[in-house]
Amino acid sequence: MTASFPRAEVVIDLEALRHNVTLLAERAPGADLMAVVKADAYGHGALPVARAAIEAGATWLGTCSLSEALDLRHGGVTTRLLSWLDVPTADFAAGIEADVDLAASSVDELRRIADAAGQVGKQARVHLKIDTGLSRNGCPPAEWPALVEAAAAEPRVDVVAIWSHLACADEPGHPSVDAQAKRFSEAYDIARAAGLEPMRHIANSAAVLTRPDLHFDLVRTGIAMYGLNPVPQQENLRPVMSFRSTVALTKRLPAGESVSYGHTWTAERDTTLALVPVGYGDGVPRSLSGRMDVWLGGRRRPVAGRVCMDQLMVDCGADAPAVGEEVVLFGAGEAGAPTAREWADKLGTIDYEIVTSMYRPRVRRRYL
Ligand code: PLP
Repeated sequence: MTASFPRAEVVIDLEALRHNVTLLAERAPGADLMAVVKADAYGHGALPVARAAIEAGATWLGTCSLSEALDLRHGGVTTRLLSWLDVPTADFAAGIEADVDLAASSVDELRRIADAAGQVGKQARVHLKIDTGLSRNGCPPAEWPALVEAAAAEPRVDVVAIWSHLACADEPGHPSVDAQAKRFSEAYDIARAAGLEPMRHIANSAAVLTRPDLHFDLVRTGIAMYGLNPVPQQENLRPVMSFRSTVALTKRLPAGESVSYGHTWTAERDTTLALVPVGYGDGVPRSLSGRMDVWLGGRRRPVAGRVCMDQLMVDCGADAPAVGEEVVLFGAGEAGAPTAREWADKLGTIDYEIVTSMYRPRVRRRYL
């Protein structure tokens, strides 16, 4: 295939990303903005997203693992960077050398980081994580005073921040948000009483949009930066990712003929089928067979029959799309075109999972 006629491509609109970062930064005026670029920037490509987010005003980056953080450093990114979920065998020394901030959820983890700092001969910048109610990683409140005291007494670490993560911020008014905020405030008081003066961060995208009282010094935005709105209220976010292909072949199909494996779909009238060369091998879930549309020729059209590994067929009725015409599997949703949210709703999941799972070696990524 030539570059202008891709089989399947994920198109990443960096202008939309910059727009979203600007919008989020405006919504949290008193805080720094961390662009969360874990899991290859939710499937959008960590390095290009990191660079675009920084251009638009992000002053921090956030990754899950140290190897993701080090990849960014190797890519030339020098922005402040926090890696928050590392295994005990992670190379903390390499992280400290590369100026990556690290997170500690326990005294043990703090010691491992401090030991690595000792080896490197450089203080480690540490963000102490308190579990305020999500019950994942993070120090339980009962062990928090011991962690704070150990950190305050440890010369090899510089306690930059205390932080936590919200369980239900995407359901505005959910009582757990206030309950978590209260525990966070108590944790902060304990840290201050131990002589620490840390920054605070707890807000994810949903909290940026709905809880200004929780912005504190830094907000950690992921999904909204990618243009997917986590809250019920309307927001002027622009989806960054679209999944596209092109018509590879068209054919007339007489009424009564059936389409694709299992013959689950039969033409009720003479129709034109457009063959689109994407399938479950490219990230189109086979379980969407019989209940998905694509955007082709300025309107939604149903996929006829089962999605195959490498191709799907679109029922175009009396229309005859041109070979090479663009097909949008999901995108920004203008004029009613399918979106990642629509896929997620049909699949019983969230749009986070849809975009994050879009990385496939045979699907080209193109940046606008
Ligand atoms: N902070 C942490 C610790 C996370 O794990 C995530 C994502 O899951 C985020 C922030 C960003 O959340 P969101 O994508 O909802 O903005």
